[in-house]
Amino acid sequence: MIDLRSDTVTRPTDAMRQAMACAEVGDDVWGDDPTVNALEEKAAGMLGKEAALYVASGTQSNLVAMLSHCQRGEEFIIGQDAHIFKYEAGGAAVLGSIQPQPLPVSADGTIPLEAIRASIKPDDVHFAVTRALCLENTIYGRVLPLDYIKQACALADEHKLSKHLDGARLFNAAIKSGVEAKVIAAGFDTVSVCLSKGLGAPVGSVLCGSTVLIKKARRWRKMLGGGMRQAGIIAAAGIYALDHNIERLRDDHDNAKLLADELSDVGEIRIDHTWVQTNMVFITPANGTAQALANHLHAVGILVDPGATIRMVTHMQVSREDVLKTAAVIKNFYRKAV
Ligand SMILES: *Cc1c(COP(=O)(O)O)cnc(C)c1O
Repeated sequence: MIDLRSDTVTRPTDAMRQAMACAEVGDDVWGDDPTVNALEEKAAGMLGKEAALYVASGTQSNLVAMLSHCQRGEEFIIGQDAHIFKYEAGGAAVLGSIQPQPLPVSADGTIPLEAIRASIKPDDVHFAVTRALCLENTIYGRVLPLDYIKQACALADEHKLSKHLDGARLFNAAIKSGVEAKVIAAGFDTVSVCLSKGLGAPVGSVLCGSTVLIKKARRWRKMLGGGMRQAGIIAAAGIYALDHNIERLRDDHDNAKLLADELSDVGEIRIDHTWVQTNMVFITPANGTAQALANHLHAVGILVDPGATIRMVTHMQVSREDVLKTAAVIKNFYRKAV
């Protein structure tokens, strides 16, 4: 089986399981799980923030961040393709009475600054109070340019907006751009990072920010039922991931590029190669063949995220050989089809 559906399918390696088995634990709700505390301290340090909070998922991390930044009746500016807006069941609106203000995302993953500026509401009783700006990096595998991030954060500062980064795959962005994660994170008040994607941990995310914000977020996490007890068992996997699985993201990026390159001469498939920056490849098969292709791949043990555009994600359990095999199967499919 070659599973390209997502980097969330990664399974803990023997060495990671060993680290989990040996983890020292305590009751984290009481604040005395040493492994959770060590993970939070480590993550905060790596992202250049004062504090961090270990949470069950990226969704929970973004939600407690929104609840910590915004009050009822306030709003946050967000890309309309962003995970927070599109794939988190509207949590901030449902549970926080916080309104999203979605804006179109450009081909490079940015939200145009003029659009952000135009959507910030004046102080008027008709409007929700604009409170926060959320960016996502990487977004659909694309890396936000550092100077764009700086300008967007400066614009937010000008209007006293809080700045949150959904950095589920922040380390992919850092590896790709050759800068430390803390450099990308610098302008943001809070940054969420998934440990359970390319980094290979079975569960968990970390939310990093100031001591004050993380204290608020910790209360929201408890309210949401996310206070976990001997969570050091899973936090140990997070520490292992941060220690061992960041540099190797480069291999995933190389494999994604290889896959895209191998497929570039298949006439029936459209690939925007400028999108292939980290560990994701999106292919748009010619009319009517997308489902048949996905079915064919499935039949030979290759899983992809299907749709009119098919997403394939490389990760630690996808080898160079797997990628070459996948490309060969796709090429063959179209050779036979015509
Ligand atoms: C996966 C993902 C999340 C949510 O993480 P879960 O752990 O699946 O809840 C948030 N944002 C982005 C960009 C993601 O890719």
